Amino acid sequence: MFSNEDKKKNIATPRICDVVWHDGEFIAWNDARVHVMSHVLHYGSSIFEGIRCYATKQGPAVFRLKEHMQRFLNSAKIYRMDHNRSLEQLCDASVELVRRSGLEQCYIRPILFRSLDEARPAFGVNPFPNPLACYIGAWDWGKYLGDEAIEKGVDVCVSTWNRLTPNSMPAMAKSGANYMNSQLIKMEALLNGFAEGIALDDRGYVSEGSGENIFTVSNGMVLTPPLSSSILAGITRDSVIQICHELDIVVKERSIQRAALYVADELFFSGTAAEITPIRSVDRITIGSGHRGPIAERLQKEFFGVINGTREDTYGWLSPVHAVAAVG
Ligand code: PMP
Repeated sequence: MFSNEDKKKNIATPRICDVVWHDGEFIAWNDARVHVMSHVLHYGSSIFEGIRCYATKQGPAVFRLKEHMQRFLNSAKIYRMDHNRSLEQLCDASVELVRRSGLEQCYIRPILFRSLDEARPAFGVNPFPNPLACYIGAWDWGKYLGDEAIEKGVDVCVSTWNRLTPNSMPAMAKSGANYMNSQLIKMEALLNGFAEGIALDDRGYVSEGSGENIFTVSNGMVLTPPLSSSILAGITRDSVIQICHELDIVVKERSIQRAALYVADELFFSGTAAEITPIRSVDRITIGSGHRGPIAERLQKEFFGVINGTREDTYGWLSPVHAVAAVG
């Protein structure tokens, strides 16, 4: 059995940015608090984003900021969160936050949620009476699945938990509540000795990891599940697809059967936190040669080349924090 200490393994204490953006103001980290009776704590009513800012030769640069903030606005729209924050305002706020943080690289976390009006409290499921609150925080985060994982790959399992069904909880909205499903997948995987779990969709086709999209490689062709397999439309997934086009690698969105995972030549995850992480086994079945495959390596080289600034950002993915025009 796992001890409590084991369960906390791999959790380094991150350096945090000591200010938090709150609707146009920068407040102290310690002042960014909510009431315990806030709607969000009881009914999961939040949407959020996860964005990376990389240390490049030109200083810190935010990766695909506009696309992340557009997804943030889309998530808010799906959950009828009527607010008046614009794409430009949210992008500018993120850049300014990183600038003030002094961090060379960090993870940026915008969140919009239903809070509590203390003068006129409302405690029902109906979210409408509750005011919306919007914050952006940041902290320094290392490699999500471990430093070694990028090169050696991770051991994963197929989860006994399915991903959300399209008409129950929309996977395309990045809502806090969706991550209860992710937590079931992640905890089961960790307690069984795996780094991550892959969930199937409600029809039994491969969906995604608890916090990553997945790709397979067979006979030189790259496949990834379509949006109809209850996935989050990952920004890194889109970047991988763009890189495949650039490198003339055939890439297709296609429903993938569980068994196809076991016989793939290569598998890898994509995600803001996981970046491009190879998978070396699924359910203790070795994938391909059991270590990072050549296509994953080529894609990583191109991806890390852009984000480390060793290769020109011809994709236009980076918004340099110290440039005048922040939104790229
Ligand atoms: N799926 C889920 C469930 C996620 O939480 C994430 C991380 N945001 C992803 C996929 C990958 O998306 P992205 O590349 O935009 O980070």
